[in-house]
Amino acid sequence: MESSERSNRQLRRALCYANIERQQATSPSVIVIGAGMAGIAAARALHDASFRVVLLESRDRIGGRVHTDYSFGFPVDLGASWLHGVCKENPLAPLISRLGLPLYRTSGDNSVLYDHDLESYALFDMDGNQVPQELVREIGVAFEKILEETDKVRQEHSEDMPILDAFKIVFERRPDLRLEGLAHKVLQWYLCRMEGWFAADADNISLKSWDQEELLPGGHGLMVRGYIPVINTLAKGLDIHLNHRVTKIVRRYNGVKVTVEDGRSFVADAAIVAVPIGVLKSSRIKFEPRLPEWKEEAIADIGVGIENKIALHFDKVFWPNVEFLGVVADTSYGCSYFLNLHKATSHSVLVYMPAGQLAKDIEKMSDEAAANFAFMQLKKILPEASDPIQYLVSRWGTDENSLGSYTYDAVGKPHDLYERLRVPVDNLFFAGEATSVNYPGSVHGAFSTGTLAAEECRMRVLERYGELDLFQPAMGEETSFSIPLQISRM
Ligand SMILES: Cc1cc2nc3c(=O)[nH]c(=O)nc-3n(C[C@H](O)[C@H](O)[C@H](O)COP(=O)(O)OP(=O)(O)OC[C@H]3O[C@@H](n4cnc5c(N)ncnc54)[C@H](O)[C@@H]3O)c2cc1C
Repeated sequence: MESSERSNRQLRRALCYANIERQQATSPSVIVIGAGMAGIAAARALHDASFRVVLLESRDRIGGRVHTDYSFGFPVDLGASWLHGVCKENPLAPLISRLGLPLYRTSGDNSVLYDHDLESYALFDMDGNQVPQELVREIGVAFEKILEETDKVRQEHSEDMPILDAFKIVFERRPDLRLEGLAHKVLQWYLCRMEGWFAADADNISLKSWDQEELLPGGHGLMVRGYIPVINTLAKGLDIHLNHRVTKIVRRYNGVKVTVEDGRSFVADAAIVAVPIGVLKSSRIKFEPRLPEWKEEAIADIGVGIENKIALHFDKVFWPNVEFLGVVADTSYGCSYFLNLHKATSHSVLVYMPAGQLAKDIEKMSDEAAANFAFMQLKKILPEASDPIQYLVSRWGTDENSLGSYTYDAVGKPHDLYERLRVPVDNLFFAGEATSVNYPGSVHGAFSTGTLAAEECRMRVLERYGELDLFQPAMGEETSFSIPLQISRM
């Protein structure tokens, strides 16, 4: 009796293992290209749905434009650092809450400075004089008024135009809104921050689309301990191949073949392309057969801008205890913006953040020259500033793994380009911030596109296998109870 029970148990176990092995051998396979937030989210979802997933990544690290550097001895984000929309509707909220990652709120909803408000700041002119707070607030109101007036220009013109041209029209019509002297310089600083948000200069920002993006409620929260723990958690247990730069993707009716730089190939039932839009634009990945014209057009027409970070680490804090420092100038190109990490993290670091043409120009400098340039901007306002002891410089525009920081709506181009970039072609699926219709240019947008592409891919592949009922999605991250996000402001 005992021995027959044991042999039954052994038989059941053997059958069970045989089933698992058979399932592993026959379960559908997917290659995900790019281990940024979108690619990792897609791979995670498919892996959890029992697909065989291989993730190919060109860099020697995961995370893509989420890049937390630890060389100062503590986390500093050189890519994304804010959770835009601190609310439970944010698709990253459950994971961030579960990990207990603290956030530092830098602004509430609908701020004219996007991820900042004027609660804690100090602006200076080039002679190191602090701009009176009252004037900064007044110009903030004037800036909003000018933007409101540009809406009238938008309604009158069927053709799109750069926001800068709309400003010129407003100033011609409403000379009372024109500003001179210090007030003009502060206005340029507001424009500089707008350019930072879009990673593009005002002569490239679309009048039609600049305010059409959807922002989740709850304001903007800085990830105090860096963004990378979110990526690392999602990536646990995935089959990731670093230093695998994809150069060619061949699609046939029965599968895909993906070739990497050293000539090796990987085959699977389908592939999810989650590389940055800048990389797609550069045509460094050859598609065979070519992608359809509408897809190539979307790739060409989506705007991609540059924003960089130059983190300066000092041995002590010598600057005011505010969230950000600004330098006003005659043009937005000449203005500067420094994020004070000390306020949120207690580390004596200022992060200089240039965008648009200025960011492009700085990328032509060596790291040392770029750090020096940032420090010189600081010296203008704080002449007693001590030299930084360490620095970090990002180069998102020229880095061949990104070729740009994030997307923006280019002048005269329709907003549906993001959707066109997302739509699958045969057994190729597309993910990444530039495929996000609602939240392009963000980490949570990239995450959502990854899970969406995974779901579409799962459905498509299983339809072909006729096994829709076998593989259930296991997007098991969500818990039935919700843990609140830890947000504070000091
Ligand atoms: C300076 C900066 C600040 C930002 N700030 C914020 C912020 O505060 N909040 C926010 O929400 N968003 C922010 N963003 C935007 C956010 O970082 C991105 O939208 C998001 O991380 C993009 O994720 P992704 O997966 O689409 O692309 P990526 O993260 O770029 O991932 C794509 C991956 O593909 C890899 N790859 C490239 N070419 C190949 C190839 N040929 N073969 C294989 N792999 C390849 C890349 O190495 C990369 O790992 C910021 C971005 C930058 C640059």
